[in-house]
Amino acid sequence: MNKNLQKKLKEEIRVIPDFPLKGIMFQDIFSITENPKLFKDVINELSSLCKKHKITKVVGIEARGFIFGSLVAYKNAIPFVPIRKKGKLPGKIIKKKYKLEYGTDQIEIQKHSILNSDKVMIIDDLIATGGTAIASCKLLKSLTNKKLTFCFIIDLHNLGGSKKLKLLSNNVISMINAVG
Ligand code: AMP
Repeated sequence: MNKNLQKKLKEEIRVIPDFPLKGIMFQDIFSITENPKLFKDVINELSSLCKKHKITKVVGIEARGFIFGSLVAYKNAIPFVPIRKKGKLPGKIIKKKYKLEYGTDQIEIQKHSILNSDKVMIIDDLIATGGTAIASCKLLKSLTNKKLTFCFIIDLHNLGGSKKLKLLSNNVISMINAVG
């Protein structure tokens, strides 16, 4: 990972204490999108990982994974596929319940969108407890046998999500670590 980019991300990402609940240190990822140079560098970094791992489809996790994931898919001229919250996707879907750092929810993906032959990169802004990513991993493993690549901008490593995810996937990449 590019050390200058890591340094810049650590300097620039705003952290808002007690949002949306007391005790949560909220990492405001929009401090990246508001900064065109930093935004571009993040997308370029993710795109080169995409090329390196010969990815055929990018999956973005709702909602912030859509912002980064769709640009990476565009840049690599490959399809973007959303994992959405409960009840938003039409047609045949596969679903999984998961835990958030705050609350619980369910994620869904359209069954037709991933083929068994696809090499998938899953992108989200952040991994905390890992509930969302682990549920996504299980969903995608039921659709493709190929190795999954997970990319996050921030890993709240003290919450242990990335450690748990690494038990299911040996390709988990985070740009920076932070304390949640
Ligand atoms: P988790 O399932 O606990 O790994 O939570 C990951 C998801 O929740 C990510 O998609 C984040 O967008 C959001 N999230 C969880 N904790 C935080 C946090 N401290 N700051 C910003 N977003 C968070």
